[in-house]
Amino acid sequence: MYAQVIVDIAHERVARTFSYAVPPALAGRLCPGWRVAVPFGRREIEGIVLSLSETCDLPEEKIKPVTRTLEDYPAILPPLLDLAVHMAGETHAPLAETLRLMLPAQMRRERVRVKTETVARLNAPLTEGEEAAFAGRSPKKKTLLTLLRGGEAHPVAELRLLVRDPLPPLRELAEAGALTLSERETLRIPGGNASAPAQPDPTLTDEQREALELMRPEAEKGTGRFLLYGVTGSGKTEVFIRLVRDCLARGQGAILLVPEIALTPQMVSWFRARFGEVAAVLHSRLSPGERYDEWRRIRRGDARVVIGARSAVFAPMERPGVLIVDEEHETTYLSDRFPRYDARDVAAWRCQREGAALVLASATPSIRSFAQAQQGGLRLVELPRRVLDRPLPEVELVDMRAELNRGNRTVFSEALRAALREAVGRGEQAMLLMNHRGYHSFVSCRSCGQAVKCPHCDVSMAYHQAGGADELRCHYCGYVRPVPTVCPACGSRYIRYFGSGTQQVEEEVRRLLPGVTTVRMDMDTTRGKDGHAKLLDAFRSGRAQVLVGTQMIAKGLDFPRVTLVGVVAADMTLNLPDYRARERTFQLLTQVAGRAGRGELPGRVIIQTYKPEDDVIQAAARQDYRAFFQEEYARRRASFYPPFTVMARLLVEAATAEAAQRWAEGLEAQVQALLSAHPDWRRRVLILLTDQPSVKFLRGKNRWHVLFKLAASREAEALCAALNDLSRAEAPEGVTCYFEYNPVTMM
Ligand code: ADP
Ligand code: ZN
Ligand code: ZN
Repeated sequence: MYAQVIVDIAHERVARTFSYAVPPALAGRLCPGWRVAVPFGRREIEGIVLSLSETCDLPEEKIKPVTRTLEDYPAILPPLLDLAVHMAGETHAPLAETLRLMLPAQMRRERVRVKTETVARLNAPLTEGEEAAFAGRSPKKKTLLTLLRGGEAHPVAELRLLVRDPLPPLRELAEAGALTLSERETLRIPGGNASAPAQPDPTLTDEQREALELMRPEAEKGTGRFLLYGVTGSGKTEVFIRLVRDCLARGQGAILLVPEIALTPQMVSWFRARFGEVAAVLHSRLSPGERYDEWRRIRRGDARVVIGARSAVFAPMERPGVLIVDEEHETTYLSDRFPRYDARDVAAWRCQREGAALVLASATPSIRSFAQAQQGGLRLVELPRRVLDRPLPEVELVDMRAELNRGNRTVFSEALRAALREAVGRGEQAMLLMNHRGYHSFVSCRSCGQAVKCPHCDVSMAYHQAGGADELRCHYCGYVRPVPTVCPACGSRYIRYFGSGTQQVEEEVRRLLPGVTTVRMDMDTTRGKDGHAKLLDAFRSGRAQVLVGTQMIAKGLDFPRVTLVGVVAADMTLNLPDYRARERTFQLLTQVAGRAGRGELPGRVIIQTYKPEDDVIQAAARQDYRAFFQEEYARRRASFYPPFTVMARLLVEAATAEAAQRWAEGLEAQVQALLSAHPDWRRRVLILLTDQPSVKFLRGKNRWHVLFKLAASREAEALCAALNDLSRAEAPEGVTCYFEYNPVTMM
């Protein structure tokens, strides 16, 4: 037998397989998906078995044998191996790179650190007489033998709690042949082993019950493809929990994706409370060791419920029964790194391949998913009301132009100021949303009008106050510099900071309500492993009355004592240079409004805006998704945006702008040649433009791109595949090219 092995040498970009002989010891055991060590030149390297064959076209004497296996199980399950092959085809990434998505980082290094513990186990059950003989006159030995009677392996660390210094007597007993001491792997469980107290099931609301009745028959067959559209506070989580439980009862597992695990601690604690240790959590803030251990718990089938961020869609679960994508409209499901993927598409693919049900859920579904539901690709299931007859909060729009006319130049309108005072005065809590951290908080010169820009990225640097010192920070590359006292461009001293970020809002609250405790959540305050959790705890416990934050506070949080939500400036997202700005604005406003009045107290929402007449703001104020969808869908159709079209680009990065431009222009010429050869493709091209993107310089690289807008069609897909090939053609030293399909940003 021969094994075709793909070797993983990242920097050499080896994208082909090599054949090795299967040694007799491994014959019959080795199958696709195993990780193996193989000789490669003079080294020994890691690889993954892709396939096996009876014959090999290389001469016998040239074939070396597989050295050994790295685990005693196949690391990549057959469906995930297929998925890697499929993704390599879709994104034209080397297979080694898509395979890498299926393995935790720690596993891809040669030596994996495994934590072990010493355990003791009887070699055979003992009669009372035998026990007495082994124990002799040692009371310790007698106790130990009693403790081990059940025949299970006991960690020595646990025995130590009952018998002082148990190791010497255990060693003697082992030598005498009564028991065996051995090392066993232990797994780190993030958040500790302490499982939350089990909670009883709430009685389902009528809507929840109906939704489940609709979904269950198809979910059971693994054919269901659902869009669960439920208003904020309608109890979608409880529907997930029941679907997951059905799966466990059938002996299947479940995967639940959340946009960002740090922002959904409640989801995790709810799931832990209901599913205990069978739930595993995967997210980017785990240490590599924790991640690896969770991965193995899932791979072995010990953890049958996986909750995680985007990459958890690759969880090594056998027989998943349902894949759920919560808050499916979030952009965090799109990977911004190579190989780029959309976790929703990967989830759909796995469901198809593995016979699982797919549930996309949101209070503000993406235009794409809701359109799919209308066309029958997804089945729409609705939860139109909040649980327990709680009303949706009342939303008021405040026209900030009128405030300005009245001479109010502060960030808060009269109405919001009064509402804040009232809510805090009643001992309730308030949340204030200031979207876009650092937006407008830049330092610019009053003489020449220049904002201070990052020398590496050609974007304005954001003003921050960190530990009493002022500094400027680049949000793209992390470059930090002190605030200049004279303008770097013209030397003028009239340089100052313009701010209306979260910090300023927080300061304003403190001025307005002295003595009130505030919590601020933005990228600055939430660094570190448990940054989010600590801040959220301070708010949840009631120690703080006001939470000020960026869009991260809009996501999925459930604080029953919040009765007031204020949106400081609704227009900020609306004015972003992106065709999805309106969709984002609606989602953000609806989600954040949904944070109010989730407990027994009714909620109030105040949205400040300079454009109260805008359709999106109006629809968000009414929390009328359908009106928003119809409007936006028609607009996308009229102005040729996805899902009616495909936005794509070939992005070129190079050391110099000239090199980037030259390569981009060369690419365009190749594209033109392709289009001449394929008139059917050409008909689908609405825009073809070679240009410098608005971010001209990023992370030390100069950028150019060739932009495409294509009418959505099979021809457009074929063209995209060809563009993808072009992007992977060999480029000169220092020039890289990426193909991006409906990217998160075109900047
Ligand atoms: P959504 O995700 O749809 O916004 P959640 O799942 O967060 O809503 O539920 C909102 C609140 O309602 C939570 O506090 C949850 O515990 C509660 N809840 C959900 N279902 C029920 C039910 N059947 N009975 C009582 N409370 C419920
Ligand atoms: Zn200047
Ligand atoms: Zn930068």
